[in-house]
Amino acid sequence: MAEAVPGLVRVTERVWVWPHHPDPDRVQAGVGVIAGDDGCLLVDAGHSPALARRIRNALGGAGLPRARRLVHTHHHWDHVWGAQEWGVPVTAHELTAKALRAEAAKPWSQAYVRAGMARDPRLVPSYTARLRAMAEDGWDALRIVPPDETFTDRHLIRLGGVTAELRHVGGGHAADSTVVAVPSEGVLFVGDCYYPPPYHLRAAGVEPEPDLALARGLVSGEFEWYVESHDAPRRREDVTAALAG
Ligand SMILES: [Zn+2]
Repeated sequence: MAEAVPGLVRVTERVWVWPHHPDPDRVQAGVGVIAGDDGCLLVDAGHSPALARRIRNALGGAGLPRARRLVHTHHHWDHVWGAQEWGVPVTAHELTAKALRAEAAKPWSQAYVRAGMARDPRLVPSYTARLRAMAEDGWDALRIVPPDETFTDRHLIRLGGVTAELRHVGGGHAADSTVVAVPSEGVLFVGDCYYPPPYHLRAAGVEPEPDLALARGLVSGEFEWYVESHDAPRRREDVTAALAG
């Protein structure tokens, strides 16, 4: 049975979001779209080539310009495995480049994933979701795409009528975490930066907590909208209230 997964959601004049999947077992991160006069900038790629194709079709259906560049917020698979399908240059932090070169060297296949789960049960949630995500395309289709362009601290991308700024924030979820600021739209894409680390990287017996100090540091009058990869976009007052405790 077909599932009702909503298509693109408009956040502001030039910012759109393909929402995350509501079932956390799918590990399907959302994808941001910043529509410039010269083309769209994608904030993350989608977790599979099949998903990237669906989003690309939705861009056309919404009358948006073609994708012209892609940014990885960090190297985790659910943000990058759709990259090959976009066929556009990729910008990311230098640590993301290093991590993706290592990921690209792994012999990804159904057998490799199943062997990984048998070896380390902490990988089961992530690897089960990867099996599901790649079912439509098949594993031979997977190409992990390291960035063509890297940066260290901050980096501007001008899109015609709107400019995005990549800002490296790091943190416990992933050392390469990067946020994407769109000041003229009042939007900040935060990726996963203040989430707890993935299961297999957590210390045994320690209850994972979001990185509240990092999250609080991101909230400012510069932005009205905060777009995280595994939740709905939230307004500043909602984020402020959630972080107040
Ligand atoms: Zn992540």
